[in-house]
Amino acid sequence: MRDDPLSRDQGDKGSVGGGKIGRMACPETNWRDSSPPHGEARCSKCSKPAIIKQEYSGQYFCHSHFMIDFETKAKREIRNRCWLSLHDSIAVALSGGPGSTACLLLLHKLFSQRRDITLCAIHIDEGISSFRDIKDVISIADQLGVSCITRSFEDAYGMTVDQYATNHEDVCAWCTEKRQSFLDEVAREHNITKIAYGYHLEDISKAVLTGIVEGDPSSLLYGDARIDAKHIAPLYMIPKKEVMLYSGVTTLVQCPYAEVPEMDFLDQYATRHPSVHHAIVSLAQRISRRV
Ligand SMILES: [Zn+2]
Repeated sequence: MRDDPLSRDQGDKGSVGGGKIGRMACPETNWRDSSPPHGEARCSKCSKPAIIKQEYSGQYFCHSHFMIDFETKAKREIRNRCWLSLHDSIAVALSGGPGSTACLLLLHKLFSQRRDITLCAIHIDEGISSFRDIKDVISIADQLGVSCITRSFEDAYGMTVDQYATNHEDVCAWCTEKRQSFLDEVAREHNITKIAYGYHLEDISKAVLTGIVEGDPSSLLYGDARIDAKHIAPLYMIPKKEVMLYSGVTTLVQCPYAEVPEMDFLDQYATRHPSVHHAIVSLAQRISRRV
């Protein structure tokens, strides 16, 4: 019987406050709003005041039951996709946005006391002024006692993204590709076996739909693009709103070079059809299993 690395996780202790891979939009382009408290609504599980409503399930959750639901979904995805093995060395690609912050908080909660799994963070400083302060990113890892490897585009490629942007138009695509290959390189240098990303449900559903409209079967069959045995996304099936709430990151910073994701119309559609993102990702999963 396979030894399940999640079978010895640390349970519900500790408090959580809170790159584009392949065809996915840069995560930093997608954060727009934070989750407001839900007035007088009560938790569907225990009747305590609710902090969130899951539109797709119709349930309200208090803080405790939100945490349980969130972490249960993430652990289920990790287990079902065999994303972790014993003796893994995991690095969270930490941008400082809600997705990567939530991912680091989750994995720290699950594995920080495990001796057979190590966890660190990698922060790539692209050199984009007025975007994010590297000290703020590093402090996220510091507060958890997680080591953070920091590297910069300037050291690796001899120029920052700001400098590249002075005479190029494909800034977002160039940055995304370089950041991904840079992360892989740093991971190899440090014998890291898994890079964990903070991609959420909407990132994946939009990547799948992009593949459909562009006639690209690989994105339909593998909507998670380059998510594979070494590139994992524990928040894969968790909606953006819940990822933001879990992360505690409420200040949203838009990258000045971010392209407007063409599939953002799905968010408007989802206000009337809240299960649409789940439906698209589930469709891709079902098709990929049959091919
Ligand atoms: Zn509750």
